[in-house]
Amino acid sequence: MEDLKKLIRNIPDFPKPGIQFYDITTLFQDSWGLKRCLDILEEQYKNKSIDKIAGIESRGFIVGAALADRLNCGFVLIRKKGKLPGETVSESYELEYGTDELEIHVDAIEENERVLILDDLLATGGTFEAATNLVKKVNGSIVGLGCVIELKGLNGRSKLGDYPFFSMISYDEA
Ligand code: AMP
Repeated sequence: MEDLKKLIRNIPDFPKPGIQFYDITTLFQDSWGLKRCLDILEEQYKNKSIDKIAGIESRGFIVGAALADRLNCGFVLIRKKGKLPGETVSESYELEYGTDELEIHVDAIEENERVLILDDLLATGGTFEAATNLVKKVNGSIVGLGCVIELKGLNGRSKLGDYPFFSMISYDEA
């Protein structure tokens, strides 16, 4: 994982003073890095009978849609408020740097479909918590939560209940 870690750029004081931003765009723009990241996720989830991947806006769309293609499953968008055109359900949550609201289409998931939720990074856990609540509201069965980067210092896992959680790169500091 050290090779992948080298591709992540740290930007201090973004988007607010005091926040260290872990920029995954530098990993995505590297052809080896993107493929390696997907290989690891595919290995982790290929035998989990996943029906749908729910990707969280916006970087969760990138890994989520690419992995859905590899796993031959559908892809569902979890978006910021006001972006999805159809009927939605929503969840408010607190971020490391503010508050926000996420939405999902009510018809995105069939009852009891097996859903994997993906994002780029776990910080305080509020985003994943809201995403799990959304998938529950539309009656999906959550089989796992996955991301590329985990900021262990923020203890986001404590918000994720008993859902199986996977991250491939972690940082002890926030
Ligand atoms: P949280 O809800 O605190 O776990 O925040 C996770 C979400 O916010 C993910 O969608 C990340 O893309 C973004 N995020 C939060 N903190 C950071 C950070 N320090 N660096 C990069 N992205 C972050």
